[in-house]
Amino acid sequence: MSKRILTGDRPTGKLHLGHYVGSLKNRLKLQDEYEVFILVADLHALTTNVDTSVIKQNIKDLILDQISVGIDPKKVTFCVQSGIPEAQELAIIFSMLVPKPRLERMPTLKDVMRDLKIENPSLGLLSYPVLMAADILMVKANLVPVGKDQISHVELTREIAQKFNSIYGEMFPLPEALIPEELGTLPGVDGKTKMSKSLGNAIFLSDNEKAVREKVAKMYTDPTRIHSTDPGDVKNNPVFIYLDAFGAQEDKLKIEDYKEKYKKGKIGDVEVKQYLTYVLDKFLNPIRERRARLEKEAGLVEKTLEEGTKKARSEAIDTLNKVKEAMKLI
Ligand code: ATP
Ligand code: MG
Repeated sequence: MSKRILTGDRPTGKLHLGHYVGSLKNRLKLQDEYEVFILVADLHALTTNVDTSVIKQNIKDLILDQISVGIDPKKVTFCVQSGIPEAQELAIIFSMLVPKPRLERMPTLKDVMRDLKIENPSLGLLSYPVLMAADILMVKANLVPVGKDQISHVELTREIAQKFNSIYGEMFPLPEALIPEELGTLPGVDGKTKMSKSLGNAIFLSDNEKAVREKVAKMYTDPTRIHSTDPGDVKNNPVFIYLDAFGAQEDKLKIEDYKEKYKKGKIGDVEVKQYLTYVLDKFLNPIRERRARLEKEAGLVEKTLEEGTKKARSEAIDTLNKVKEAMKLI
């Protein structure tokens, strides 16, 4: 039997090119090699924002964005966190196995509190990693694809699994974090280290040609280069980083040629940006076309989530029953 994977996202808005580089590209590969569950972590979205007025739309965007890039609901199981109450019951049980200071020391908590200027974390934010552990362990996932920042959550999940197994008997496999080497962080169009929707520096997978053209035209390049005849830097230049990330095989030679010219001051920013616009549109066009088709299929997202959640939930029910039996609660 192929190994199981659980991965997911918080429905906090549309997906962008950074998400493609950092997770979707990898999911496209994983869906053919593993049994993959993709969780829409709507409860986790509440840990930093309790306003749920646009959450339905965010969930829809999240699913449409993923199917548009080629993640196939026939291959993966899309499920909604709040539709699986058994995971929350598991989380309560797991919370008894985790010392409170262990959660207070999580580096992710410190980062979120600093970034969002939260002085007093809610109980929900503090116990976020415990619910994540329940999501992973409810399907007995073996592998969890995460960014480097989330490794600590997978470590905690292993500790919980180990502790449960040692007290109540072998139940859970110890999941491992899957961190693909080649995945980097895509910078924003403003040159900041990370493209992020809250920083307003993102190109979205659902952006149309006009939006892409305008964002690329304003893009940060090499600030030390004043004239197009000045030698330019390609290494820390988002325009060239995007060309490398999204250029198709047939574009590689031209990209190398542009890099050489740029380094020697033989090509201007405008020309390179026009080329980047072409490369991004070529990458985004099939995604846009698929999205336009999908949007016409009434109820597609709802049906995908309903079926997927039902399947994941039946796994969670089974796991919870076994857990309660092992604990002699039933
Ligand atoms: P927010 O601004 O609300 O923090 P975001 O646009 O940064 O949103 P997240 O939801 O924080 O997106 O990102 C979820 C995951 O997507 C990250 O853990 C990471 O794996 C991946 N990701 C997001 N942005 C990038 C990026 N610029 N480069 C590579 N991976 C990214
Ligand atoms: Mg972020």
